[in-house]
Amino acid sequence: MDRWNLYSTRPPFFAMHLLYLDDSGSVTTASDRHIVLAGLCVFERQPHWFASNLDDIATKLWPESPQSLEFRGADILGGKKHWRGIGKEDRIKAYRDALGILGKSNQVTLFGAAIHKAAISPADPMEYAFEQVCNRFDRFLGRLHKADNTQRGLIILDKTTYETSLQGLARNFRTVGHRWGQLYNLADVPMFVDSKATRLVQYADLVAHAIRKYYENGDASLFDIIAPKFDAVGGVLHGLVHFTPVGAQCNCRHCRQRKAH
Ligand SMILES: [Zn+2]
Repeated sequence: MDRWNLYSTRPPFFAMHLLYLDDSGSVTTASDRHIVLAGLCVFERQPHWFASNLDDIATKLWPESPQSLEFRGADILGGKKHWRGIGKEDRIKAYRDALGILGKSNQVTLFGAAIHKAAISPADPMEYAFEQVCNRFDRFLGRLHKADNTQRGLIILDKTTYETSLQGLARNFRTVGHRWGQLYNLADVPMFVDSKATRLVQYADLVAHAIRKYYENGDASLFDIIAPKFDAVGGVLHGLVHFTPVGAQCNCRHCRQRKAH
């Protein structure tokens, strides 16, 4: 008999870290130079706290129906969908306030990959981003394990995230994991959820869109709010990847660090 069943129905690990991811930028639209896959890792007992903080921002803007106000970076900045009736200043403030919740929290770790599509071609940029983020999340959990804080990880993606390719990858996650080197600390295959129902996936979208604005448009105004929260140890950045063409001049933290080694 499985010895765990003797004592408890709990699996033989104690807690779960959840990594919510979303994408930004189109693989097929030529004018998007980069695609981004990014999001936030929180401990399993924290999603409610983060969600209610986003609800509070929504309630101030739309008291009658805060749940209808979905936080997506492109909609907020473009004044689209439910954001249409909200003034530009208030929309930008809402975006900054939402990122500020992450920026001020000690309970969140960010991961992201910005992949220059032409530079990675003919490989699939989103698959490469997914591989990078999964491996970095796995190593983050491995560090916790070495510090006697054994935790498992679960990746949660927006249903619409690059529906075809990432869902296929997710289905074959274990096989793919082998191709990349074993992912030791992930509990199961990734889950797909509806972003309308999950404030945490909406945060992931806000993070991904802020990264995209930074790398596509050189606009760091949103990115700077969350920049200190990417996984890093002793000043070495692990949680953010920028894949550039060979010889490209980029002054982002990831590229500066790469040049220095
Ligand atoms: Zn860079």
